[in-house]
Amino acid sequence: MEIKVADIPAEGLEIELLEAAEGIESLGADTRLSSSVKAGFALRKVGATVYLAGWFEAVLELACSRCGKAFLHDAASELKLDLNPLESAATEEERELQPGDLEVEFYKNGVIETAEFLREQLLLQVPMKPLCKDDCKGLCQYCGQDLNEGQCGCEPPAGHPGLAGLKDLLKDK
Ligand SMILES: [Zn+2]
Ligand SMILES: [Zn+2]
Repeated sequence: MEIKVADIPAEGLEIELLEAAEGIESLGADTRLSSSVKAGFALRKVGATVYLAGWFEAVLELACSRCGKAFLHDAASELKLDLNPLESAATEEERELQPGDLEVEFYKNGVIETAEFLREQLLLQVPMKPLCKDDCKGLCQYCGQDLNEGQCGCEPPAGHPGLAGLKDLLKDK
């Protein structure tokens, strides 16, 4: 959905929206949207700046960083930020070095693209090292078995490899 900044009335605007997963561009290789994104915004305009307060929620499908299994992750957050016209930030550098960094976003050509805006907010909710559960045991480094489903037959390597060689030597005598 597109919100034209010029159409935000003086008394502000409150909207609820549902952005279909298909309408949101890829979130990256191991991240998939597995629901629509629900959101509610209260918008107030002062000059060219739009103050946005609200919330959003969605379900993401992530890949566990230990066992590789896909799992569902509830991504939800409150929002409170200022949206400024992109044209007002003279240089790329200025755009990136805004005070209070995360709380400033930009809109282009007088329009807030909610799909793109929500995509950026969702990306902030993707954990650096996603885990299917806090104590995920991961995969056996030798045979690749999922250790959450039980132990495999692999023996942990016993002691120093040099000792095994020594044992062979002794056996020969
Ligand atoms: Zn896992
Ligand atoms: Zn194993």
